Amino acid sequence: MVRGQLMSRGVRDKRVLAAFSKVPREEFVPRDSRTASYADQPLPIGYDQTISQPYIVAFMTEQLHPSSSDRVLEIGTGSGYQAAVLAELVAEIYSIEIIEPLAKSAQTTLQRLGYKNVHVKVGDGYKGWLEHAPFDAITVTCAPDHVPQPLIDQLKEGGRMIIPVGSFGDQELYLLEKKNGELKRRAVLPVRFVPMAGEAAKK
Ligand code: SAH
Repeated sequence: MVRGQLMSRGVRDKRVLAAFSKVPREEFVPRDSRTASYADQPLPIGYDQTISQPYIVAFMTEQLHPSSSDRVLEIGTGSGYQAAVLAELVAEIYSIEIIEPLAKSAQTTLQRLGYKNVHVKVGDGYKGWLEHAPFDAITVTCAPDHVPQPLIDQLKEGGRMIIPVGSFGDQELYLLEKKNGELKRRAVLPVRFVPMAGEAAKK
């Protein structure tokens, strides 16, 4: 997976590639799709949700330029896989999932694998996690119609956010950087994420 799907498509960051070699993806995939754990595609994890394609997780992770002292906010814990990859790379992950059973199951998996620096809570990620803000980086794995203002507010000066924006079939992944109080925004990849649930995410 690392060579055939990630390096071949241009993922170069050595720390990011090492993190992918380390995290056992099969632990985050439901039992009946384990044989497809390392396939080049998203996989269902129940509740109409998916664990993202490995390349997309790697691309998003690399775009955040993760450093070992970073505190990162993730919206959409899902299976917990992206949180585990990030946990190999940064100091603390704060991850929010709106579907309670998914949050519980991700938490159980992460604990079993010994990840102590991932903190999962059930809630609407649109609002971010004020108690632990500001964050060095924010990764969003479900798509709202617009970039949530609370997430912009909770991003540190110099911080980076990667977020899919738009409706299904017409989504772009944006990279946002906060510099001198201003937000630079750049579309980096057309993508297909599940919509962000909750009223606030829709304009
Ligand atoms: N990062 C995940 C992929 C998750 S898919 C992984 O590695 O497996 C997107 C997730 O976002 C789904 O689990 C979905 O339930 C969750 N989600 C959707 N809307 C949300 C919201 N408003 N707040 C938090 N999580 C949300």
